[in-house]
This record gives sequence, C-alpha cells and structure tokens, in this order.
Amino acid sequence: MTATPFAFRGRPVVVGAGVAGLMTALELAPRPVVVLTKTLLGVEGSTLWAQGGMAAALGPDDEPALHAADTVAAGDGLCDAAIVDRFARAAPEAIRKLARLGVRFDRKPDGGFALGLEAAHSRSRIAHVGGDGAGRELMRALVAAARATASVTILESFDARRLLVEDNAVRGLIAVGPSGPALFATDRVVIATGGIGGLYAESTNPLGSFGQGLALAARAGAALADMEFVQFHPTALDVSLRPMPLVSEAVRGEGAVLVDERGQRFMADVRGEELAPRDVVARAIWRLRASGGRAFLDATSAIGAKFEARFPTIAAACRAARIDPTREPIPVRPAQHYHMGGIAVDAEGRSSVSGLWACGEAASSGLHGANRLASNSLAEAAVDAAIVARSVDGAKPQALRLHPARAPQASDPAAVRAILSRAAGVARDGGALSAAVGALADLAASNGPAADPAAVALMIAVAALRREHSLGAHYRTDFPSPPKARERSRLTLDEAFAAAAAVPPVFARRASGCRA
Ligand SMILES: Cc1cc2nc3c(=O)[nH]c(=O)nc-3n(C[C@H](O)[C@H](O)[C@H](O)COP(=O)(O)OP(=O)(O)OC[C@H]3O[C@@H](n4cnc5c(N)ncnc54)[C@H](O)[C@@H]3O)c2cc1C
Repeated sequence: MTATPFAFRGRPVVVGAGVAGLMTALELAPRPVVVLTKTLLGVEGSTLWAQGGMAAALGPDDEPALHAADTVAAGDGLCDAAIVDRFARAAPEAIRKLARLGVRFDRKPDGGFALGLEAAHSRSRIAHVGGDGAGRELMRALVAAARATASVTILESFDARRLLVEDNAVRGLIAVGPSGPALFATDRVVIATGGIGGLYAESTNPLGSFGQGLALAARAGAALADMEFVQFHPTALDVSLRPMPLVSEAVRGEGAVLVDERGQRFMADVRGEELAPRDVVARAIWRLRASGGRAFLDATSAIGAKFEARFPTIAAACRAARIDPTREPIPVRPAQHYHMGGIAVDAEGRSSVSGLWACGEAASSGLHGANRLASNSLAEAAVDAAIVARSVDGAKPQALRLHPARAPQASDPAAVRAILSRAAGVARDGGALSAAVGALADLAASNGPAADPAAVALMIAVAALRREHSLGAHYRTDFPSPPKARERSRLTLDEAFAAAAAVPPVFARRASGCRA
C-alpha cells in the first residue's frame, strides 16, 4: 500500500464527485481539499442523470413556507421541521449561487427563472435546464468550476474502500487507485457517494450507485437513519433496459395522464390525481400490475408535438424503445429511484463518528421524511454543501496516526439485488423481510465481494422489518395502517446483525457480526 503524497496529509477528503461532493469542495475553497471519484470525473453518478431540475421558492406566487409545507406533506409528517424550514429558506439563494457559478438555467423572456410544476408541489418551483437536462448542465458547470479551483485536488478512478477509525474518530481512509491501494492520512472525511439503486434489480440510478459510502460509514460504526424509506419512482420506462430510463414527473406536471391498458385513467379519483406524492402513484401502479394490468403515461393530448422540444432526453429514450410519445401512450412501471435513508447526520452534516460528515443522497438529515418531494435532492445537496464545508473547516484538527490495513476487494452488489428487490420493494411483508434479513446477514458477514453491499441491504431490510406500520414510501401489506406516532429510525451495523440473529429459526440462517 502506498501512503498518498505528503502534501495531502491532513487535508479533508471528500468521497464522491456529484453535486454534493463537488459543491462541498468548492465551498471549502480556498482551504485545500482532496476529492475522490471512483470513475473519471463527470461520467458517473445520479447528478449527471437528473432531469426535472431543482426545487426552490423562486416564483412571485411562492414562498419558503409553502415549499416547506409541501416537503412535510410529501414526507408524510416524518420530516425534521427545523431542517425543512432551513432548507426551504436557503434553496433560492443556493440556486442563484449555482447560476453565478455558470449553470445556465432556463429563463423567461424577462430573465427570471422558468419554473416547472412537479408532483406534490403546490406551486411551479422547479428551476430546469435545457428542458429535461438539468443534471448534465449542473455537472458541466461544477466540473469546470472544480477544475479551475486551485485548492481542489481531484483524484479520478479512486475507489474508497475502508475508513480507519480509532476511538470513534476518523484517522484515515483506504482507497484503491490506478496504481493500487493508497492510504490517506486524514481526520476529516465527507461521504458524498450518492444513492443505493444498484442494490435493486430495477432502478433508475447508475449501476455504480450501490451505497458504498453507507457501507464505509456502517463498517466504521456510524449510525444510519431511516434506511427503510426507499423511494420508487412511479414512471420508469417499462422496457428491459437496466438502469431503467426515467420519465420525469414534469411530464405529468404538464398534463400527461396515467391510463391502464384499456386507456382508462386510474388516478382520477385519488387526491392529487397524477400529481399525488410518488409513493401514492407508485402503489397505484403496483396494484394495477398485481391485478394483471399495465400502466401507461399518455402525453398525446396535453403535450403532443411539443414533447421532443420540452423533454428531449425522455423523447430519445422513448425513440430508442420504438415508442412515439407524441402519438402513443408511454408504458411505465415503478423502479427504485431515491433513498431517503442514509448516514444519520446532525444539523451540521456530522455523523455519529467524529471526523465523518455526509452530504447529498448518502446523508439522512430528516429533510425528506418518509418520502422525498420531487426535485428536492439536488437543491438539498447545494444547500447542505455550504453547511458541511463550514463544519469541516471549523473542526479541531486531531493527531494523525496511521494504522495501515489491507484494502478490501472491490464490491459487487449482484448477489444482493434479487434478495433486496423481492423483500423491500414497493410493498413489503414480514415473512419476505425476515427471509431477506437471514440471507443478507450471511452475505454481509462473508469476505466476498457482496459483503459491503449486503451490509447496506441488511440495514434496509432490518429497518423495514422493525417498522410495523405503513408510512410514506414504506408500505407493509401485513401492517397497512399508519403509526400512532411518527418517529425516525436509527440503526448501527452491529444492531442489524443482532436483529438478524434474533429472526425466528424458520427464516434465519447463520448470521454473525462483522465490523472492520
Ligand atoms: C434518473 C434520475 C433523475 C433524477 N432527477 C432529479 C431531479 O430532476 N431533481 C432532483 O433534485 N433530483 C433528481 N434525482 C436525484 C438526484 O439526481 C440525486 O439524489 C443527486 O444527484 C445525488 O447527488 P450526490 O452528489 O449525492 O450523488 P451522485 O451524483 O450520485 O454522485 C456520487 C459520486 O460518488 C462517487 N462514488 C461512489 N462510491 C464511491 C467510492 N467508493 N469511492 C469514490 N467515489 C465513489 C461516484 O463516482 C460519484 O462521483 C434524479 C436521480 C436519477 C437517478
């Protein structure tokens, strides 16, 4: 293993180079920071694929209190009210800051932001770019800004594999780069590794998003929060491609309607209709499919010939599947899309391990509650990056002691996908979850390439098994009622292994604790 150049010693290390990682690094400037990304810069991560845009109370008819109320309503009351309030107030300025940084948001003739409407928003408040190309433009501008900032060192093709922790404090990080394993001597690490879709068989996320940062934190002993709350986007394109192309909410925002195979609308009698929260629409489609039906998004009347110009990315995905959205309904089905859970962080983005922060989709601050409001995640990352950077900068330096350790092998989530998808999909039940917990605990305790992905999946399954009611995106067919009190969940990996060991023998397989 090579120790990384002395110049990096003691510098904060940001793991991940999507909106959360790059914004954190830029907010830290002029303080030196190292950013690791496991691929070349700007080619992987959900940020690049974002379509709809960023939510903020930017319109003349809008205000942060309305954005906050919509966020809490979508989150089914589980949100942290103080975090939501701070986010909604800060989001407009975060978006103006991105515009100053060079992001070319779509504008109205008077120069104001062109704002779109998405599901469960009471106002048009989605700042979009190039129609449905928000992510590409955001990454273009952030990559250019990061490359032009001397204090930001970007190490490409560096896969972070293990945190070195002593006395519950970060002492270093092991990554594997193009020349082999490397040891970073640092007392400050920010996890910004994005989502977990790669743990599911059907997801809209890049395959490389499989919760590696959550595994790093969990193996270091950090608590994870709200792991059971996994968002399924109701309208992924129903084709055999993996990852599944997304048909953004904005299409429904512009009037497209959901119909069954006979052309009948099935959301017309539901509160919010097609623009009900994502979990409500996903469950309606799941029920339709469970009874043998199929769902389609019909944009032919509401958008028609304007589809290509307004939604070029979606039009291209439809074209590739030989579907013409201007003339025929688009086949859709739910797919894993976003994770409300993640590394439990406080109001400054700090985890329960000293010297470890999290930002972006990998973090769970309580903003999203039981179900994320559409287009709140890019804005969340932009808002929180500034908060995390201030906290990292203000942290008291610790003595750096290095204990070289072996770099674990590269992770491969393939063995986890079928188990997690079967047990922790749109609808869950105790039997399937118990069986999954047993199988995942075995994998997580192994030394195989599935161990880290299985540890994250185990924490999802255990949290889902423990929550014996239905709330937001967590729907239990055996416990369909809402809870009496709404409480967030928190779990360490040791607790997850203990829960697995307590699963009744009919489900349980051997499960033993394993923490690095
Ligand atoms: C198809 C799609 C459309 C979406 N549309 C919207 C939208 O319109 N609006 C919205 O608000 N949200 C949207 N989202 C959600 C949003 O894009 C994500 O939540 C957000 O981009 C996450 O940003 P991030 O920086 O946390 O992670 P990412 O952008 O996923 O970046 C993660 C980074 O971590 C790196 N990484 C991972 N593991 C390691 C490791 N072990 N070592 C080193 N590097 C690592 C990756 O290489 C990558 O650079 C969408 C998501 C998808 C999938």
